[in-house]
Formats: sequence, structure tokens, C-alpha cells
Amino acid sequence: MNQSSKCKVREIDKLRKERDGIFEQMLKYRGAIRGTITGIYKMCSNKECECHSTNREKHGLGYYISSSHQGRTRMIYVPSLILEEAKKRTEDYKKVMELIEEISEINSKIFKLEKEIKKGG
Ligand SMILES: [Zn+2]
Repeated sequence: MNQSSKCKVREIDKLRKERDGIFEQMLKYRGAIRGTITGIYKMCSNKECECHSTNREKHGLGYYISSSHQGRTRMIYVPSLILEEAKKRTEDYKKVMELIEEISEINSKIFKLEKEIKKGG
């Protein structure tokens, strides 16, 4: 193996460590959920309330994690007690996606270097 290849092997080593570090960071966000928190007005919980009759304004605000799933919109109800947790989970999903993008960038560099080594340079 020539000098240039040895340099590339070291560089690959460094990149792999960096990449594996990102995978470890990702564990922090493993509760991630893809979706957007959406507030929707529906009938309130009081069955006697006017909002239960038709054409009345709905006023029972409920939160949902909304996402497209197999071509359909999926809504997961979020009780207000755990609204903050749900927000965090959807934000964590964005972080996971950013980290995956970083991993892909690093792997592209590794791929390129490995290819050059195989070509003998
Ligand atoms: Zn009502």
C-alpha cells in the first residue's frame, strides 16, 4: 500500500469514528415520532353543550400528532397532560433526520476514499 493510500486509510478511520459517534448521539432521540402537532376544535366533553348540536361552533380544542402514513393522514390524539412530551418527540424526529443526513455525508466521503484505495491511489 502506498503512502497516499495509508493516508486515506487513516482518514477513513477518523470518519468512521465520527459517524459512530453520531449514531450514539441518536440514542438520545430514540423516542422520536414523525408528525406535526395540530390543534383541532371538536365537540367538547360536555354532552349537554350546544356544540354537540349541528351547525354550532366547536370549541373543544384537542391536540393531535398528524402525519401522512401510507398515503393517508393519521391523527394520534395527544392528551394535554403529555402535550410537551409529544412536541419533544416530533422535534426529536427532525434531529434524527438531521443526524441521518450527516451520517450519509460521512459515508459518502468514506465510500469515495475506499474507491480510490481500491483503484490503487
Ligand atoms: Zn361544547
